[in-house]
Amino acid sequence: MLRRLFFGLVWLVGLGLGGAIALILLLPHFHAAPSSPSAAPPTDHVQAAGDPMIATPQPVVVAGGAPSAAATPAPVPLVTDCSAKGYDAATAANAASLRTLAWTPFHRPEIGWETYAPRIAEEIGAACGPETPGFAAALSRWQQKRRLPATGMLDEASFKVMNGAWELQRPFVRLSATGACPQAPSGANLTRVDGAEAFGGKAIKLRSEALDSYRRMVAAARSESPTIGADHSLLTIVSGYRTPEDDNARCAKDNDCGNVTRAFCSAHRTGLAIDLNLGGGSPISSDDQNRLRQTKTPAYAWMVANAGRFGWVNYPFEPWHWEWTGAAQ
Ligand SMILES: [Zn+2]
Repeated sequence: MLRRLFFGLVWLVGLGLGGAIALILLLPHFHAAPSSPSAAPPTDHVQAAGDPMIATPQPVVVAGGAPSAAATPAPVPLVTDCSAKGYDAATAANAASLRTLAWTPFHRPEIGWETYAPRIAEEIGAACGPETPGFAAALSRWQQKRRLPATGMLDEASFKVMNGAWELQRPFVRLSATGACPQAPSGANLTRVDGAEAFGGKAIKLRSEALDSYRRMVAAARSESPTIGADHSLLTIVSGYRTPEDDNARCAKDNDCGNVTRAFCSAHRTGLAIDLNLGGGSPISSDDQNRLRQTKTPAYAWMVANAGRFGWVNYPFEPWHWEWTGAAQ
């Protein structure tokens, strides 16, 4: 009897020990299974704003939640047949006026429209240079859509319509047109750009959201353009936020205010405007030859084609001046 009891106890203890061992062996698996999905990076980390590795453009939203129409222009089918038939006269006229047209597109006389050719080509959907039949064909199609004489020749009237639309893409201009001057942002909304982001390491501040967008844009530019990727001084910021007092002091010092190159109420007071180093000479000199050199750089070409993806628009008189459209003024 005692012997049976002894073996019964041994059997029970063995069963208990075996069960305990089995549980110990199995527990980590029960524990590990539910937690394994967390091994993947959390989504919010991958999409963190300002991550320099993220080149994906973010949708631009203006205050109030409505998407900015200026930041998402309707795609225009490109005219890629640069030797389009039937535009010989227009092609010859454009080739001649490109460097000889005497006109006043921005309140001061200029000769030729070569400085604006990249922007015009983007506007009319031409993948061809301004002296090609394909450019004339694209311009003719653009003029026809706007009920302008469809000559295929660039003239002051067509440019005026284009430039009017470009100006309206700038929230600063829309507000200024009402006679108002935007309030400067509070210091809390301004962030100092990193030393490597500032041309010559200058101390420059920008509205934080605009700086985030700028960083995404430059990361994309460096990955998409070999020239920009190879020279990190390109697209560095020459000027950002300027206090109204600074602007007034500049005007007074140079006795040069309220005209095409200097303004009493500058877009730079918003903290949403930047002047960029495009690498074409003196970064922000408004000398006509310097402006032309700036527009012939790979950096400007990339910006004209791509900055809109990130909500940035250009003031075409100053190839270096870009404004972010994603925030209220
Ligand atoms: Zn500027």
